[in-house]
Amino acid sequence: NWDLILYVNLELVNKTSNRRFVVKEMLGQGTFGQVVKCWDTETNKYVAVKVIKNQPAFYQQAIMEVSLLRTLNQKFDPDDKHNIVRMLDYLSFQNHLCIAFEMLGQNLNHLRGLKVQFVQAFSKQILDAMIVMRDGGIIHCDLKPENILLAPTAKTAAAVKVIDFGSACLEGKTVYSYIQSRYYRSPEVLLGYPYTTAIDMWSFGCIVAELFIGLPLFPGASEYDVLKRMLKILGGQPPDDLLREAKNTTKFFKHVGSSYLGIGPHDGPGTAYRMLSEDEVEGRETKRPKLGKWYFPQQRLDQLIYTYPWDNTKLPETEKADRVLLVDFLRGLLEFDPNKRWSPF
Ligand code: ATP
Ligand code: MG
Ligand code: MG
Repeated sequence: NWDLILYVNLELVNKTSNRRFVVKEMLGQGTFGQVVKCWDTETNKYVAVKVIKNQPAFYQQAIMEVSLLRTLNQKFDPDDKHNIVRMLDYLSFQNHLCIAFEMLGQNLNHLRGLKVQFVQAFSKQILDAMIVMRDGGIIHCDLKPENILLAPTAKTAAAVKVIDFGSACLEGKTVYSYIQSRYYRSPEVLLGYPYTTAIDMWSFGCIVAELFIGLPLFPGASEYDVLKRMLKILGGQPPDDLLREAKNTTKFFKHVGSSYLGIGPHDGPGTAYRMLSEDEVEGRETKRPKLGKWYFPQQRLDQLIYTYPWDNTKLPETEKADRVLLVDFLRGLLEFDPNKRWSPF
């Protein structure tokens, strides 16, 4: 919507009367509004300005984004050392909230099939950001490769930063139940169970795997399909306690055991429920998902990591050892039980 951009440009010109932001090009577009690259004539730098749609719901959520980012930037990361995007300024006019960010580079979708050592380097940086979020009690709620951008760095090594706190919330003040992008959605969110910062660790696990194998790990065409892929690739399933208490369990699972009633000891995790077969799932859409462009053989996680790329069997010993560590790391992150899932520290 170039009209809006032009409009924004003119408004900014009028507002500041010294033409602070000059709009150059479109960077991204979403349901919230659009992100444009601007020249900031006050600092003589390019900035990325997120222009929020002028509707109350979007405006309110953007106020939340500003507030959480301000806390993260100023209180928890004053020296810009923890790989979180810097918010430079924000202003409001005609009910459009505009947030200016430091200009970053391409997102991680552009880097796929990385060597373990690069996966490790990026993982450390993302984890660093996640420690800060954890300290602030902030759940990002939308971690995915698109929301992690390459950042300019003085050194030759690549750096990344976490962006898009547009869906973020405070732990203990969770409002929405329909959160996270589907491929990166945690089991507890899928199942409708109270969530914590642990949901970000799940998404992070999905990102780490994707950086290595080059494809999303759980590219499900529906929520049912995502969950089914999880069970197949990871083995096991969410624990009975979680399934018993979650709101959406019956959408995906059938109760088959007695521990449901709380009578007698549990036989072990996941014994009281089994996942519904495709024929048992209600609704045509979720029933038979078409194979998307991301289709790949659904192997167990360790096989997937050890044999990548799939026609390569002759790996050097050091590379094999790296992959054993990667699988171990992923196992800790992609743990069905949020209480047992690894936390960032
Ligand atoms: P989503 O639709 O994933 O929820 P969003 O609509 O809330 O995202 P952002 O993710 O904040 O909005 O920004 C949208 C896109 O704009 C990003 O994916 C990225 O391509 C671009 N972008 C955002 N911030 C920056 C930045 N600081 N530097 C460069 N590009 C940016
Ligand atoms: Mg985004
Ligand atoms: Mg967003």
